[in-house]
Amino acid sequence: MIYLYNTLKHKKEAFRPLHDKKVGIYTCGPTVYWYAHIGNLRTYIFEDILVRVLKYNGYKVNRVMNITDVGHLTSNADTGKDKLEEGAKREKKTVWEIADFYTKTFKKDLKRLNIIFPDKFIKATDTIKDQINLIKILEKKGYTYKTNDGIYFDTSKLKHYGRLWGKKEIKMRAGFRVKMVKGKKHLTDFALWKFSPKNVKRQMEWPSPWGIGFPGWHTECVVMSIKELGIPFDIHCGGIDHILIHHTNEIAQAEAAYNKIMARYWLHGEFLVLKKGKMSKSEGHILTIDDLIAKGFTPLSYRYLCLTCHYRKQLVFSIKSLSASQKSLNNIYDKVREIVSSPLLSKLKVKKENIKRYKEKFLSFINDDLNTPRALALTQTLLNDKKLNIKEKYSLLLDFDKIFGLGIDKIEGVKIPDKVKKLVEQRENLRKQHLWKEADTIRKNIEKLGFSIKDTPKGPQIIKYQP
Ligand code: AMP
Ligand code: ZN
Repeated sequence: MIYLYNTLKHKKEAFRPLHDKKVGIYTCGPTVYWYAHIGNLRTYIFEDILVRVLKYNGYKVNRVMNITDVGHLTSNADTGKDKLEEGAKREKKTVWEIADFYTKTFKKDLKRLNIIFPDKFIKATDTIKDQINLIKILEKKGYTYKTNDGIYFDTSKLKHYGRLWGKKEIKMRAGFRVKMVKGKKHLTDFALWKFSPKNVKRQMEWPSPWGIGFPGWHTECVVMSIKELGIPFDIHCGGIDHILIHHTNEIAQAEAAYNKIMARYWLHGEFLVLKKGKMSKSEGHILTIDDLIAKGFTPLSYRYLCLTCHYRKQLVFSIKSLSASQKSLNNIYDKVREIVSSPLLSKLKVKKENIKRYKEKFLSFINDDLNTPRALALTQTLLNDKKLNIKEKYSLLLDFDKIFGLGIDKIEGVKIPDKVKKLVEQRENLRKQHLWKEADTIRKNIEKLGFSIKDTPKGPQIIKYQP
């Protein structure tokens, strides 16, 4: 049984999907006006771990991710500029070019971090008709009103607005100092459709029954998720910043339109922060995967760093902690390389009890709300366990890597030429006959070919000779 912390219920719960062994997941995707920063990518790594844990438990996962290419404003309070239109101005390109370019860089980052691609990417601009249809339903049911700048959702009409809010969010809301948008009836009301500003020709705008404009960001996600996964669906994910407004407003629209809670489990990843504060695209101080590569790190060392911290805990990023992660990861790779280079690997037998013991522990950790730090610690224990042979270790490492995604299966052993293998065999035979001098001559010949031999209690180990 998998246990997950469900923000909707404010507690950890046993996960029970709607349909036997099938899970539908919607994960809020990037706003493609700029590079994804490593904070954003932490959230996508957490979601990737979730998908991998579900698959490891035998579920068939259907994951949908949106690409926000319109409507996300620079302020959460329905004011400010459209991030995409701003990106286009900054780079003197069309909005479509901006969206296309940053969608590509985003996908490249996912690949470099070994994040399994969602089963479907869906663009907000491809569902404008559906979004207008939802707003029409909300209008018909009396949940909307019009202001000078758009069509708004009246949150006072909904009995249970703010279902996701726990004590923390209620306190945050009480201290909110948001400038009220003119014409808005309540602070929590939000735009479903924004009119294009008068005298400004937006690059992205569409006709609607209310006037030319563009959809609100919260409307995009509720429409895309339900269109792809139905209502209700199993899991909705995002970063914790989405609890207070974005996801709350998605739930509100779905409940008002369909009288249903759109998703059953809501999972939120904590933020990655810098020592000096928030990492934010809009505030400009961000680190990208390319920045980490330029500093000499591999993208997977960042993935490893994320695995060392539980997804519901804040991760304070530092170059020091990334260096430590790179070192630990390299150490694992070295050990795996040593294992796969060993001629013993194919000859050893695997004891089922040894595998079972470790697998059970591993499963209990990852199924306990994705506890990757404990699962990683178990990997270290396993590597140092003298009771396990290298074949058992390798088989477990490959299995655990279905969750970690650290590329263990890509680690190749040192290729040993047949000629060297034959010489090693000859030397072994000579040693068995106590012909030490002759055996030593063969050793020298092996070394001339660039390999050395380490005699271990389990037999000779061939190592690529490093002169
Ligand atoms: P955005 O591209 O701004 O829409 O954000 C994409 C995803 O990254 C969302 O799920 C956010 O909640 C998440 N996110 C934004 N900033 C951070 C951060 N510093 N740490 C972790 N996740 C973040
Ligand atoms: Zn969203």
